[in-house]
Amino acid sequence: MSKFAQSLSIKMLRKKLKLDAPNLQNSESIATVSPSQSMDLPKTFLELEINLNESLKKVSFSHPVEYVYHPLDYALKPHTVFVNRYCTSHKKVMFLGINPGPWGMCQTGIPFGEVASVRDWFKINEDVSKPERECPERKVLGLACKRSEISGQRVWRLFKNICGTPENFFKSGFMYNYCPIALMKKGGSNVTPSEIKGDAQKLEELCDETLYDVIQLLQVEIVVGFGRYAEARALHVLEKSNPLNTKVFYLVHPSPRVPNNKNWEFMNTAFKFAHEALASQEVPVGCIFVHNGEIVATGRNTVNATRNATRHAELNCIDDVNQICKSQNCDVLTFFSAVEVYVTVEPCIMCAAALYDLNVRCIVYGCKNDRFGGETVFNVASVLKPVTRCIGGFRADEAMSLLKTFYKGTNPSAPPHKVKLKNKEN
Ligand SMILES: [Zn+2]
Repeated sequence: MSKFAQSLSIKMLRKKLKLDAPNLQNSESIATVSPSQSMDLPKTFLELEINLNESLKKVSFSHPVEYVYHPLDYALKPHTVFVNRYCTSHKKVMFLGINPGPWGMCQTGIPFGEVASVRDWFKINEDVSKPERECPERKVLGLACKRSEISGQRVWRLFKNICGTPENFFKSGFMYNYCPIALMKKGGSNVTPSEIKGDAQKLEELCDETLYDVIQLLQVEIVVGFGRYAEARALHVLEKSNPLNTKVFYLVHPSPRVPNNKNWEFMNTAFKFAHEALASQEVPVGCIFVHNGEIVATGRNTVNATRNATRHAELNCIDDVNQICKSQNCDVLTFFSAVEVYVTVEPCIMCAAALYDLNVRCIVYGCKNDRFGGETVFNVASVLKPVTRCIGGFRADEAMSLLKTFYKGTNPSAPPHKVKLKNKEN
């Protein structure tokens, strides 16, 4: 009976969101959350999750699935603390995991919930109980679990680097798992939702429906799927109806089992070059070009050294790739279409246009470029309509503080009036 009432209220919610959709195009109204809305938000979100969890209990899984863990049952306490604390406002960006990992959410009830991150960063230490049928190889020990989930460690370390505190991350970000249950084979090895045969349709149907509701409830502007499967589910649910014009992005899943997921480390390398630029009295921007998982070009600004205003980090990398293609006698445009760009600052109008023109696969950048940004100052994509995906905000504070350090000092090649102006501003 309660389920009926619940789905009814969600339908009403959907309807309301659709009615409000034209206003939501306005970014100010997206950012505004009335106090009553924010009070209802965690409660409604939890209800959605719990309903999905209950519905999934009615799905019967056949071979090779031997064990089904429902962390939203036995680890509901820490999960509720997580939701009540961090799901109190609309979310601009929602990161989408697939389902609980054995040493992460299965232990702690928190998405990507690696024990140390949950205990030390979130400071959540509620008790968890046991799954109904426990796999001897995958015992649930809660925070006493000694194994560390690498994916969770990587994900939360990244956000710690970007945001410093959980509060900063959850101000506009959120982490949600597409499917709240873990499925295991006899020896404990993981069965992903994408590997389920027969019953898969029912599982995906239920998870899809809730994913759509969650996106609308939290008024998500951008979904970032961890892995192709998560990305595909988000694209699928938004295909028929997308009242908020939510965009979908993709990040390689951080699991060490996934090949070519070094991009968690790529930004580190880009930052090394930004630091090198700063030490050489250049505007501190570092850049990495990655092709099929391998770094093929590294660059930083060399404007002052070369006295050439076009020698930006990205153009230096483009030149390197051109050289590689020449020496290996391969097609430049085919090569660039598989290139991922990691750069500490939003590419300027010139570099954005060049990268879009080359159809690079994606651009991942740190902080915004308020003076020359190819998105912020003039949206180059609106003119060139590129296939390239562009996503910013990775370690933005760190990238910005490098720029500030540089501009506080003296740019040796800047015209005198600009240096003076800059000093006045500071
Ligand atoms: Zn540039």
